[in-house]
Amino acid sequence: MSVTPVLDTDALSRQDPELAEILRGELDRQSTTLQLTAAENFASPAVLATLGSALANKYAEGYPGARHHGGCALADTAERIAVERAKAVFGAEHANVQPHTGSSAVLAAYAAVLRPGDTVLALGLDDGGHLTHGSPANFSGRWFDFVGYGLDPDTGLIDHDEVRLLARERRPKAIVCGSIAYPRHIDYAFFREVADEVGAHLIVTLAHSAGLVAGGAAPSPLPYADLVCATTHKTLRGPRGGMILCGAGLARRVDRAVFPFTQGGAQMNSIAAKAVALGEAATPAFAAYAHQTVANARVLAEHLAAAGFTIATGGTDTHLIVADPAPLGIDGRTARGRLAAAGLVLDCCALAHTGGRALRLGTAAVTTQGMGEPAMARIAALLVGVAGGGRDPAGARAEVRALTAEFPPYPE
Ligand SMILES: *Cc1c(COP(=O)(O)O)cnc(C)c1O
Repeated sequence: MSVTPVLDTDALSRQDPELAEILRGELDRQSTTLQLTAAENFASPAVLATLGSALANKYAEGYPGARHHGGCALADTAERIAVERAKAVFGAEHANVQPHTGSSAVLAAYAAVLRPGDTVLALGLDDGGHLTHGSPANFSGRWFDFVGYGLDPDTGLIDHDEVRLLARERRPKAIVCGSIAYPRHIDYAFFREVADEVGAHLIVTLAHSAGLVAGGAAPSPLPYADLVCATTHKTLRGPRGGMILCGAGLARRVDRAVFPFTQGGAQMNSIAAKAVALGEAATPAFAAYAHQTVANARVLAEHLAAAGFTIATGGTDTHLIVADPAPLGIDGRTARGRLAAAGLVLDCCALAHTGGRALRLGTAAVTTQGMGEPAMARIAALLVGVAGGGRDPAGARAEVRALTAEFPPYPE
């Protein structure tokens, strides 16, 4: 029996040709351009099928064994499996797999240990902090008193002296580590020490690197953090969503902060898909993937540095690279536009110390496609040639098509 009734795309084409065309076009776009957006990846067909399964219809407010709706026996089992797998993969005592997105996980984590008006120390927004690090446009900036620590302008590394100084001065209730653009490992032991000194909770917004930690290619924050928020769709390669990992002591507060404080009914199709992705993440093949993702990023960064880009922190420990094209005589925004026209999709990010914009790219998706170091050399040549304006866009677009045809994201 089929696990999903929606595999029949012909039926969708007949009922709603307009939307069917969009879905087909998006699959084609993802398959024939290079996804270098650091936060993106290709979830497996198994994960996508689970998202499109009948569990999408199921209402399941509450937690396994304590739901506000009937008919939840199978939903309960799916969520219990997701929780057990998350705990096993990350070595956590407790996992909540219900947050709808990474930001929802952060909101719930703050709600679990903070009160409105509390002071929170986090990486500043201009230095790679996320919206949830106190942006005035986000709940975090409205409801908490955020203090931002920064990066050392010379090295690009987190300024530990500033972290310690601000913690002593401002006595935050929580210290947050996590970033949307930091390419290096974070010294969690250092942050734990500072948090202990001032009596703060340590919250790690692991988001980007969750898959690298799961695959053993990055150090785990679990031994140090009180709360770890993760996204499941970045390097972890699962469905779009979030989760929170913590010790047994905060389990009840975290669960209540997710439901009923910040969310209603759980998205059971997404939770089941998280279980499938966590099952994948526990395999040796995934560990190999995580290590290859980092190896690819290192090689790509080296090639870009050799071609004249300024690489933030001089390299990378993760899947993520921040490359400033200013030495080539162009700004990040112009470079991004040229690259997009040639089928190389990536983001820009602000550079606090120069006021300019750099390219932010990652190797999570292309590594899922099976690309290794030789392919990274080809991608680097494309990035350099197209961003610098030395290479004709049509020729580059053809090369991107050839590369993606060699490494299709969904060969089946
Ligand atoms: C991606 C990310 C988030 C939020 O994830 P969404 O799923 O987009 O809400 C939060 N914090 C950090 C550091 C991130 O990188």
